Amino acid sequence: MKAAEKRLPKQIEELRELIRHHEHRYFVLDAPEISDAEFDQLMERLKKLEAENPSLITPDSPTQRVGGKPREGVVQARHSVPMMSLDNTYSEDDLRDFDRRVREAKRHIDVVSGKETIEYVAELKLDGMSMTVLYEKGMLARAVTRGDGTVGEDVTENARTIRPLPLSLAPSALAKTRLPSPFEARGEVILGRSAFERLNQEREEAGQPKFANPRNAAAGSIRMLEPSVVAERRLDYYAYALLANGRVPFPEHRRVLETLAALGFKVNPNWRSCRDIEEALEFCREWESKRDALPFEIDGVVIKVNSVALQEELGATAKAPRWAVAYKYAARQAMTNVRDIQVQVGRTGALTPVAILEPVALGGVTVSRATLHNEDEIRRLGLKIGDAVVVERGGDVIPKVVRVQTSERSKHGRALREFVMPQHCPVCGGRVVREEGEVAWRCVNTDCPAKLKESILHFAARKAMNIDGLGEVLVNQLVDTGLVGSLSDIYTLTETTLVQLERMGEKSAQNLLTEIRESKGNGLDRLIFALGIRFVGERTASLLAEHFGSLDKLAEASPEELEAVFEVGPKVAASIHSFFREPRNGKLLEALRKEGLRFTQERKAGRTTALAGKTFVLTGTLDHWSRDEAKRRIEQAGGHVTGSVSKKTDYVVAGSDPGSKLDKAKALGVAVIGEKELEAMLQPGFLTSRVRKRVVS
Ligand SMILES: [Zn+2]
Repeated sequence: MKAAEKRLPKQIEELRELIRHHEHRYFVLDAPEISDAEFDQLMERLKKLEAENPSLITPDSPTQRVGGKPREGVVQARHSVPMMSLDNTYSEDDLRDFDRRVREAKRHIDVVSGKETIEYVAELKLDGMSMTVLYEKGMLARAVTRGDGTVGEDVTENARTIRPLPLSLAPSALAKTRLPSPFEARGEVILGRSAFERLNQEREEAGQPKFANPRNAAAGSIRMLEPSVVAERRLDYYAYALLANGRVPFPEHRRVLETLAALGFKVNPNWRSCRDIEEALEFCREWESKRDALPFEIDGVVIKVNSVALQEELGATAKAPRWAVAYKYAARQAMTNVRDIQVQVGRTGALTPVAILEPVALGGVTVSRATLHNEDEIRRLGLKIGDAVVVERGGDVIPKVVRVQTSERSKHGRALREFVMPQHCPVCGGRVVREEGEVAWRCVNTDCPAKLKESILHFAARKAMNIDGLGEVLVNQLVDTGLVGSLSDIYTLTETTLVQLERMGEKSAQNLLTEIRESKGNGLDRLIFALGIRFVGERTASLLAEHFGSLDKLAEASPEELEAVFEVGPKVAASIHSFFREPRNGKLLEALRKEGLRFTQERKAGRTTALAGKTFVLTGTLDHWSRDEAKRRIEQAGGHVTGSVSKKTDYVVAGSDPGSKLDKAKALGVAVIGEKELEAMLQPGFLTSRVRKRVVS
């Protein structure tokens, strides 16, 4: 072996150490010593050396952050010590009460000590998702989300992609702490403001729904299945607790934070040791006004008893520790005027009224719109266009209107206008319908430009028309380029037009066209489901196809005729009826008919048995069959089995010890039969007229 080769392992490890040092400077301390370009050069050199010497790659190499395969699914993991949530307090008095409880408990425990005040540590409360990271022999071994506090989700591969989180700890630093192995570092996964804004902008450009707040974005990201996508999200991790052998390995919480930082973890530097609760309160007040200057969202301050011995004495209730509490900040509010109320149409066709505001500064951002949710909310607020309102921003990007300042109405003769919900979709002019029990008005036009992407995705879904390859990315391209302006346009796509799209090769274009062509052979039930009629799921679609046998008959059916179908109630019937009353949907259906989709369905042979289309309810114990067995046989013969007796029930099958269902059947005059009659009905060639009602006394 040449001398140069012998030195290689050491040389590579030194390079890794250097990169780790700069990663720490950049991602943890936010104080880089070299430029990004210089850093990239170091990484490139390491990658090259490792590529030439793959046997020298170690799992904790900075190049190995995104190495894992996609997760197969959710793997659960039990926490060594529960990850409890904290009790919340909302006022200074609440916080003083907390302090009083701690002091009383301490007096009880420790009568000798004359010391009356309790030392606390106050930390900013980061608004993200809690996660614990296990280190074995200084190496990141496992990361688990908080979950329900007892069991979380194993997200190790994703956690490895979080740049501020060390994959391994410097042996010298670790030795100094005298921490046993293994130990856990607990903390919060968050998404900083700028990473959050960038992510939402990318999602908007890609036609994907935006995240409402950084917390949702962080929680959603850490649980994704594909580590390489997680890596692009730029998640951050702040550690705030240490556990070894189920206990805090230091006598003071302060030491925990100092040790975490010394080990290279990112610890929020804005924490303070407080001699008593008043100092902690001072910290809370201070950060309430300074929080907008932080690069991430906080929703309050966490106050912990500093003495770990006292923490252990205080213990916990069933859901929260008694030695720590969260002081939550009130949502930020501001007063402004409503210039107008506009209506937006969401991806599902829901109409959402939005208040257009006179721009106002709120929580570090200028706010010019606020959501009003729905028509009822406007009525509840008593809001009119031109009103002065109080808007509030919690953790969410979009603020909401909290109340109307009616006292302002009398001032300088404001001209107020009543808001009226539009009677047609503001995007396509289609019918809007508000279904019974729903708060939102919705556009029923499947081809509505606001809904089109969702409509196509639903149409192509596996349980609908099952067009493999027509996924989100392609649908966005097709709609954004204008190649598809109506659902029916997917049947007019050609190879020539498809290959012009980015990332679309000849082969995949041909495969897609085959899939699209083959979808024309799908049954009527799939087509009905694929149209995206609200409340019409797979099962209802199949029952409708069976009942009407043709799309034209379904389209012409009155609400009463629709309600005659098994399992179709007034709400579903109304939704189907209004769908077919929209002329734009009629146009779509004609286009689909021209493309040769199947608009009719032959009746199943099963309809000719005595049980076909009949509804049964089972009650009591049967002699020969279990309930499941009886249910299976009835369904095989074309009947339905439901759980409760109604006017639509044809037969109640009563075994021994029947329940209240029998009484209900009697009250409604529903036919009651026994097991023998059911067996007889299941015989081929049995005629319904021979069913003998059991004599009930
Ligand atoms: Zn519309």
